[in-house]
Amino acid sequence: MKKIQWNFNNSYETLPSFFYDKIDLSPVKKTKWVVLNEDLAQFLGLDPEALKEEGFLPLSGSEFPENASQIAQSYMGHQFGFPSILGDGRALLLGEQITPKGERYDLQLKGSGPTPYSRNGDGRATLQAMLREFLISEAMFGLGIPTTRSLAVVSTGEPVYRERVEKGAILTRVAASHLRVGTFEWAAHSQIKENLISLADYAIQRHYPELENAEDKYFQFYLEVQKRQAKLLAQWMSVGFIHGVMNTDNMTISGETIDYGPCAFLDVYAPQTVYSSIDIYGRYAYEKQPQMAAWNLARFGQALSPLIGETHEKAMERVDGALEEFAKEFQREFYRIYGRKLGLSQVDGDDRKLIHELLEIMEKNSTDYTNTFVDLTLRDWEQEIYQRKDFFSWKEKWLKRLEKENPEEVEKRMKNSNPYIIPRNYWVEQALFEAKEGNLDLFLELWAALKSPYDYEKHKEKFRFYKEIFGYKTYCGT
Ligand code: AMP
Ligand code: MG
Repeated sequence: MKKIQWNFNNSYETLPSFFYDKIDLSPVKKTKWVVLNEDLAQFLGLDPEALKEEGFLPLSGSEFPENASQIAQSYMGHQFGFPSILGDGRALLLGEQITPKGERYDLQLKGSGPTPYSRNGDGRATLQAMLREFLISEAMFGLGIPTTRSLAVVSTGEPVYRERVEKGAILTRVAASHLRVGTFEWAAHSQIKENLISLADYAIQRHYPELENAEDKYFQFYLEVQKRQAKLLAQWMSVGFIHGVMNTDNMTISGETIDYGPCAFLDVYAPQTVYSSIDIYGRYAYEKQPQMAAWNLARFGQALSPLIGETHEKAMERVDGALEEFAKEFQREFYRIYGRKLGLSQVDGDDRKLIHELLEIMEKNSTDYTNTFVDLTLRDWEQEIYQRKDFFSWKEKWLKRLEKENPEEVEKRMKNSNPYIIPRNYWVEQALFEAKEGNLDLFLELWAALKSPYDYEKHKEKFRFYKEIFGYKTYCGT
């Protein structure tokens, strides 16, 4: 029998017990493989064949990996602006797998059963929701956007009660860590400075080791987290991604995208778009995301305040200054990426105008966000929409600007920053519907295509086109 090659270590347990609860996994009896991410298994140093043969934890009858734990992490979160005590209500941290390169990744089971933090929830997850997180997180990885990843989905054979009776499933999530802004809020809430110091030192060691001996290291840490978030947000915006529930518990310290609940991608370019069924005031609309990230980072600064200023007031002055920097960093990244989407090597003031003019035309004409950039990349002006006066004169200006660039470089830049395909709402829903009915073909085809979204390949064309889903809505906690 082959060995899976677990290489677990649990540094999270070196934190004060205030940050977690040890629990016993509530067993699920009839688990079955639905999908396994073999590339990711290999990256983690695990043998996919052995995983399939022996199964691993969420599979019934399989062995608990050596040195693995069962931990529910404690955290808080500002949900839609209001603080509450949360914690892992339906997830279990097994520990950290050390990869052959010596990197450390959390393995977490999502949907594994109730924990002390489940409140009124059942601790479970539906097959459809876990496949959705699998597909979209892996699509984000394919797009080159920092994200938690998905190793596997297993079905539990147990019913999960939502609006209808659904099939239960468990996702194995892989993350640089599960430290959140909300974890720091939890530390601050304890009003014990040692908790905050332990957590900050742990986060620095794990994600920002270059700061370990830096002067003023906690403030430097704050600034570095902001920089990663500024880059991340610019990347989200550049592919039309809407997270949907940017609560502070869903913002990581590592800079990875986390918690794929009500997320979705723009079809037509409408900046006010909201898909989440519960976001009735549009707090987390597409265009609001950078602003909401700044709001979350302000909460992070508040939590860190005992470590970054002699008094709370002084700390908050520094936080305000840092947030101005965040806004600037976001703008720089935003224009750099959008410049590349238009083939530009550098972006000056006129180029910025050119970018905004295009976005305004797209909004006015309700053009498809992704496909417009693909059409520009392919210089495909066939459609009626591109014959209209506003677009036509914009195009002339743009082509003139491109004369200053090397044409081959332009093409390369554009192809590398304008995805040919994204996880279209229509195709995601179609694939999940069929998967729920027991047919995974479309799911697997879509997943395979989304591994290389920047390859302009003819056979992927089908995923460029879609039927608009009128009043499309996505959901939390499913
Ligand atoms: P989320 O909206 O996924 O970020 O979750 C917010 C909080 O609700 C977290 O503390 C989750 O653990 C908890 N939660 C979500 N769904 C469930 C569920 N079905 N059972 C228990 N807790 C849940
Ligand atoms: Mg969450």
